[in-house]
Amino acid sequence: MNRVPMPAPPPFPTFAEAVNRSYDVLIIGGGINGTGIAREAALRGRSVLLVEKHDYGWGTTWRSTKLIHGGLRYLEHGEIGLVFESLRDQATLLRAYPDMVRPIELLLPAFRGDRHRPIVLDLGLTLYDALALGRGLPRHRRISPGEAARLEPGLRRAGLRAAFRYYDCQVAYPERLCLQTLQEARLAGATAVSRATVVAPLLDGHGRICGARVRDEESGAVADVRATVVVNAAGPWVDAVLRDLPRPPTRQIGGTRGTHIVVDYRGRGPRRALYAEATADHRPFFIVPWRGMHLVGTTDIPCADPPDDARATPEEIAYLLTEANNLLPHTPLAEADIAYAYAGVRPLPAVDARDAHDPGAITRRHIVRDHASEGFPGLISIIGGKLSTFRSLAHAAADAIDRYLAAPPRRSPGELPFVRSPVIVAMDDLPPQTADYLRQMYGPSLTLLMALLRERPDLRAPVCEHGLDVRGQIVFAARHEGVRGLSDALLRRTGVGWNRCLGLHCAVEVARLLGGELGWTDERIAREVEAYHHEVAATFTTTTTPALAASVDQAAG
Ligand SMILES: Cc1cc2nc3c(=O)[nH]c(=O)nc-3n(C[C@H](O)[C@H](O)[C@H](O)COP(=O)(O)OP(=O)(O)OC[C@H]3O[C@@H](n4cnc5c(N)ncnc54)[C@H](O)[C@@H]3O)c2cc1C
Repeated sequence: MNRVPMPAPPPFPTFAEAVNRSYDVLIIGGGINGTGIAREAALRGRSVLLVEKHDYGWGTTWRSTKLIHGGLRYLEHGEIGLVFESLRDQATLLRAYPDMVRPIELLLPAFRGDRHRPIVLDLGLTLYDALALGRGLPRHRRISPGEAARLEPGLRRAGLRAAFRYYDCQVAYPERLCLQTLQEARLAGATAVSRATVVAPLLDGHGRICGARVRDEESGAVADVRATVVVNAAGPWVDAVLRDLPRPPTRQIGGTRGTHIVVDYRGRGPRRALYAEATADHRPFFIVPWRGMHLVGTTDIPCADPPDDARATPEEIAYLLTEANNLLPHTPLAEADIAYAYAGVRPLPAVDARDAHDPGAITRRHIVRDHASEGFPGLISIIGGKLSTFRSLAHAAADAIDRYLAAPPRRSPGELPFVRSPVIVAMDDLPPQTADYLRQMYGPSLTLLMALLRERPDLRAPVCEHGLDVRGQIVFAARHEGVRGLSDALLRRTGVGWNRCLGLHCAVEVARLLGGELGWTDERIAREVEAYHHEVAATFTTTTTPALAASVDQAAG
């Protein structure tokens, strides 16, 4: 295959440009699954429009634990097929995005009283290794309690019977993997527009789905977009989309809320990820190194509220802090060490009330549901689907789409012919830490960012004293990455919003920089800063930094 640098994707269209024609496929939702399906369908030669009501990656995709994992835990539920599929996708993503998706070592301690004895864990990990054959990561290894304590001095020693070292992968910025997937879809011919909400699916005279009514959230304009197939990839909002059908199908999604706290161990935290059983309820949880801090999560709580309102509760925060301290009593965290907390809703399949008592047991397998059997041919909903398996899901969904289209699909190349190797992009004189940060964030798109930084060395200056992002990323996001608002740039194109200060300190300055690119007036700049404060308040819970908490509370109103 001819390996070339990634070409610049075409400019993003306006709402009017995007909706003025008909398509083979209309995809609702710009999360990892919607963008994955757009990519695969476009690679098969289909004309595709993807509409996203807020910003690409804004939904659950952005609020995850950020692991590309094989799902070791699913083995205990006998979901061997799902584990195999996840590990195969993990290997694909490792090959395709070696900078963005990186191996991460995990330590799994086994304590007296845990649900699984060491021998069972050993057998499970042996099966995991066998299913993962060919992914090129080391096999698991059982180690003694003494060695575990040497590796992670913070670890509880009382009752420790053994520990296991094994590997999975981390995608530190899933929202950027989502964007990369979208850019690849666009390079393959797909069209995408954000701040565009599907308000109702459209039916033709025979009751067949023939498109959707879409509203531009900026101008309020409404348009009917014709498409042969409509894919409802709205994640936890799948039922909200279906609600507007004349005879809505039964509930598809039984969402569960998952919360993380982001904590600062001040240099004394674990060096590898820990995967352990909570002492309170024996649920599995992770402590994962991330951006110089650690993610502790997650919870799994049935959630009937609208997914837009998902916030970490004080009880969840207290639970996660307690469990982190139970596991690592020699490096205890205080409440003041919590930088912030965030929550998301898993779009899991709806289950009977009798099965809902154990959310952890609900299958993580995805379902591609064709609503033809409910009287709506042409409508497909995506239920479930993890970050880790979005490529497999996209294949299954594209197969379902193909069944509706008369023209045979083009053979999908799977991968586009971009240079993926981490060593090819010259990072000039950027500090090594910044260079590695940008590699991890941008993957194949890094060549395009570096071209801008070479042309404008002044844009290498940092955005915020609390992080590694440089000003050029903001300009790049405005020019090439479909940014419609300040929050898109701070929260989902760069890592500024994930800094300890949540990007609140530099919001005005970034709004001016972005506004210069997008032609914003002073009044628009002020509105964007206010909207950013609102989005931060709606997303993060912060109780420990009084000034920050005050400004977040003030924004919440
Ligand atoms: C706490 C937590 C931790 C997780 N950790 C992991 C992990 O470590 N690894 C892993 O593999 N998976 C993980 N997951 C699961 C994974 O994040 C999700 O399953 C996945 O991101 C779902 O992606 P999606 O594209 O289906 O949905 P979403 O990302 O939610 O995207 C749906 C999009 O649809 C848009 N939308 C909704 N309604 C409309 C409409 N009417 N019109 C237009 N657009 C609309 C929304 O704005 C949203 O952007 C985790 C999930 C949670 C909650």
